Amino acid sequence: MHYPCPAPMLELKGKKVLVVGLGKSGLAAALFLRRQGAHVTVSDIRSAEALAKDIPALLDEGINVEAGGHGLLTFRRQDLIVVSPGVPLDTPELVQARNLGRPIIGELELAARYLKGQILAVTGSNGKTTTTSLIGEILEKSGLRTQVGGNIGVPVVALIEGSADDTWNVLEVSSFQLETTEVFHPRIAVILNITPDHLDRHGTFENYALAKERIFLSQTQDDYCVLNADNPRAAAAAERAKSSVYWFSLKHAVNQGAWVESKTIVFRTSPSSVPETVMPLSAIPLKGDHNIENVLASVCTARLAGAAFESIRKGVEEFKAVEHRLEYVATVNGVEVYNDSKATNVDATAKAIAAFPGNIHLILGGKDKNSDYTELNELLRARVKAVYTIGSAAAKIESQLRGVVPIHSCETLDKAVGAIAAAAHPAEVVLLAPACSSFDQFENYEQRGRVFKQLVSDWEASRGMHPHTS
Ligand code: ADP
Repeated sequence: MHYPCPAPMLELKGKKVLVVGLGKSGLAAALFLRRQGAHVTVSDIRSAEALAKDIPALLDEGINVEAGGHGLLTFRRQDLIVVSPGVPLDTPELVQARNLGRPIIGELELAARYLKGQILAVTGSNGKTTTTSLIGEILEKSGLRTQVGGNIGVPVVALIEGSADDTWNVLEVSSFQLETTEVFHPRIAVILNITPDHLDRHGTFENYALAKERIFLSQTQDDYCVLNADNPRAAAAAERAKSSVYWFSLKHAVNQGAWVESKTIVFRTSPSSVPETVMPLSAIPLKGDHNIENVLASVCTARLAGAAFESIRKGVEEFKAVEHRLEYVATVNGVEVYNDSKATNVDATAKAIAAFPGNIHLILGGKDKNSDYTELNELLRARVKAVYTIGSAAAKIESQLRGVVPIHSCETLDKAVGAIAAAAHPAEVVLLAPACSSFDQFENYEQRGRVFKQLVSDWEASRGMHPHTS
């Protein structure tokens, strides 16, 4: 097996390091840096009360904490600054630090320099968590030493201790994380798709796409890059990849990689080799064509990492939809209910709608991300019976979708489920796929999904009192 040259470890002992943002990965990074002998300060704009649960542990470790804002002075005095993914890079403090020549990296870059083994990194606008989890499960079933982490919820720093020379570190990486990488070097880099998202942070679609392409910036011709041949912007990234490009496609054969032929997944290692049959589409336990894309990407990537087809098949067949990703909730009065709270952009919502033939009652709304909801028009006309809007984006959504589909202004999820309970008929579908982030009314998309499931369960419990109950 080939092992890439590890990036140089940073000399941290005795160095002054600032961690900006005390989320899960910021906290893990601060504790790791301290253990390496650095003098660590953590700075967060949230108040000391909001950070109360983490502050004592940090102080006990000898880490300084600056809460309730960032001091310009704090940022001047550092040898290294580690920024959390949620922190915009153009704040005055960071601009000043950059002008002073201070190195600014993210937790991903920091951790990657200490990880042993190889990195398999997955990015994309949608499908990262699903695909990262699936690849992790396949590699594990293949008997390969595997760890899964990154944007999926396990800080990469937390994987360092468990890594060994033969480990595959399977990492979900976001555009925010990739913005602060330098020598991050995956052996296999996957770009699932690039569609508009996070334009509120990246400004333009092209900036966002270029942040995603940073995934293969340090790769060489010995590495692999797996790209979606059906997604124009992801496919265009091939021009800049120095590694060997493998493709996946739902629509046509590719010169090397995975695709669908006669309702079967096939894979070929090189343009001259014979395609091998991997599995029938009917064996995929997930809904929607977008999930076939995730499976194709996983098949191709796992094969490149050395997994046997047998394990790949088993990994896919036994995979369960990750919570809040087109997750089946219940059937109430013959109405099927799905929770896709993680559909926080227009493309994910489009894919969710496309997974059902019609008669969908769709809940849309939340916090707008500068999105264009008119992209849903065609699918709404063809498959959606009514839209129920919630959250601060409701007015914009309603004005963009007026005349396309019946719209009910509900303001809250609670009222939306109530309205749907009164309107939906057997054999119809209820779908929470809001195309917006959740932060206007919820802590995060997970909480939104859990509240939705609770409301559905209340609806189920009260159906004896409902007019549509037979
Ligand atoms: P990510 O980690 O990139 O946000 P997830 O697997 O959590 O990806 O899925 C996010 C949302 O996108 C969910 O609503 C899911 O149903 C949808 N989705 C999953 N895979 C894809 C894909 N390949 N293309 C478009 N949407 C997808």
